[in-house]
Amino acid sequence: MSDERSPNAGDERATDRGNARADSNPWVIDTHELGRRPGASRQLELDIPVETPLGVPDVVTVPSGAAISVDVLLESVVEGVLVTGSATAPTTGQCSRCLDPITGEVSIDITELFAYPESTTDETTEEDEVSRVVDDRIDLEPVVRDALVLALPLVPLCREDCEGLCSGCGVKWAELEPGHGHETIDPRWAALVERLQDTDDVSDVPSDQAGDGGDGSDR
Ligand SMILES: [Zn+2]
Ligand SMILES: [Zn+2]
Repeated sequence: MSDERSPNAGDERATDRGNARADSNPWVIDTHELGRRPGASRQLELDIPVETPLGVPDVVTVPSGAAISVDVLLESVVEGVLVTGSATAPTTGQCSRCLDPITGEVSIDITELFAYPESTTDETTEEDEVSRVVDDRIDLEPVVRDALVLALPLVPLCREDCEGLCSGCGVKWAELEPGHGHETIDPRWAALVERLQDTDDVSDVPSDQAGDGGDGSDR
């Protein structure tokens, strides 16, 4: 009665929010104030929430909901805006040896030139070689995301000397008694033992004792 909204009004609001978010993409930095004046600079510290996880699921990722901390200096240089600094993000994953959940941190250094339009760099390089300043703005996201992904460990470990799991019972070595083991026989010997057990008269085994107490085996 009092608070009715038409579905259309709701849609409109959602769209507005969408636009607002696109306009305020936290990764896109307005460098207008640097004014293409070489020497002008600006320090920038950002905590940017992760929407799409980075990395390999079930191995190690910067999970969605985490924040990437970016701490960079933007400097106007002759060719463009030079971005230097670092980025850090928390990671979650699984130890590749013992499969325990692990958490960590990944850090990268950033040194990236964003070329001004019509600069020599702009005219002599491809866009996939050197980033560009577009409409006075730079987009830090591809630079930071790519570098973070590359910096993630390929084989994450809970600790450097993790001993992993006992291949016999799958229990972590760290939780097993010293001297833990399983009575296993080398597969090659196991086959031989089986043969010995199957042939009571051991007639198949070339040995001095073979054939003595035979039960009629005449091979
Ligand atoms: Zn481990
Ligand atoms: Zn075991």
